[in-house]
Amino acid sequence: MSHRINLSALNRQQLSDFCNELGLKRYRSDQIFQWIHFKNAGSFDEMTNLSKSLREQLSEKAALQGPVRASTSRSKDGTTKCLFRLHDDKLVEAVLIPEFFDDGVADRLTVCVSSQVGCVFGCSFCATGKMGLFRNLSIGEITGQVLSMNAIAEESYGKRITNIVYMGMGEPFHNYEPVVESAAILCDPLGLNLSPKRITISTVGLTKQIRRYADEQQPFNLAISLHAADDTKRNKIMPINESMDLAALRSALSHYHRTMDQGVTYEYLLFDQFNDSPEDARKLARIARWLPAKINIIMYNNVDGVTLQRAKEERLNRFMAELSRLQVRATVRRSRGDDIDAGCGQLAIKDQDGTGKTMASSR
Ligand code: SF4
Repeated sequence: MSHRINLSALNRQQLSDFCNELGLKRYRSDQIFQWIHFKNAGSFDEMTNLSKSLREQLSEKAALQGPVRASTSRSKDGTTKCLFRLHDDKLVEAVLIPEFFDDGVADRLTVCVSSQVGCVFGCSFCATGKMGLFRNLSIGEITGQVLSMNAIAEESYGKRITNIVYMGMGEPFHNYEPVVESAAILCDPLGLNLSPKRITISTVGLTKQIRRYADEQQPFNLAISLHAADDTKRNKIMPINESMDLAALRSALSHYHRTMDQGVTYEYLLFDQFNDSPEDARKLARIARWLPAKINIIMYNNVDGVTLQRAKEERLNRFMAELSRLQVRATVRRSRGDDIDAGCGQLAIKDQDGTGKTMASSR
């Protein structure tokens, strides 16, 4: 197995090079690409438009190591969370978040995908951060989650997913290449053919990667997990801020804005009595003026073992009133899927044996 190349981890060019080496025509590479990144094939046998001998040849030389859906839970509000088993038995989660028109028909269908098994950054409010990092996901392990959630969307709502956010387990920019390459594949006309503007990649603020993202003119949206508007508070809940503080973030974002002429979205989890005062709102308003920005204020779903708690409605209202007084537009996002622990910062698969392979409820 180990000498076989994993085709689902290749980008389109690498797959095409592999097919060239086998002496295959260009259209074969396109067909194989589509089987992997559009039809979510789990084996070469499923690739019925390839000859039997080609399928046998592929099985000898290559493997397909995509994620396999292991379990599905659906919340009262329609949010669906799936657990995926990877080829080495590690587990990750993805969430499908439907939003409906007044008549009950599905409008937006957003998939939140994982980019790593666990995470190294240890943000204090985040269940994934408590696991530590096991490994990065490959391109196909990311696209496979999306395709599988897309199948659920088609089955449940009769339409394809409309948006993707890289906000599941892991820090996307800590696994930079597979993340941007998977996003490109999801926009490929032979794949899901999404518009890059329907894809948002989120980061805690890894400044080198923000600059690279700008220099490469990556067309996807950029979101920053901010969660605190001054260094003292941010250091307390996001250890990354100690080495990459708000000044460093500002400088990287200015570069992004100059290079791309694009704004960003700030995600701000509101915690009770921590970052929810009018003074915090004033600091956030200053950050909001660094470059054109959208602000999402997210109501946190409490996580066991985490001291930070969801802000009270009354404090939320005061916070929003202060932003509005300062003419900063912000949207409140209620965490979805409370009853299935699918909210922001809640995705985690507790490791019981030190290998990341055993699932148990972390909550
Ligand atoms: S919030 Fe993101 S970066 Fe922080 S620990 Fe969780 S997954 Fe990692």
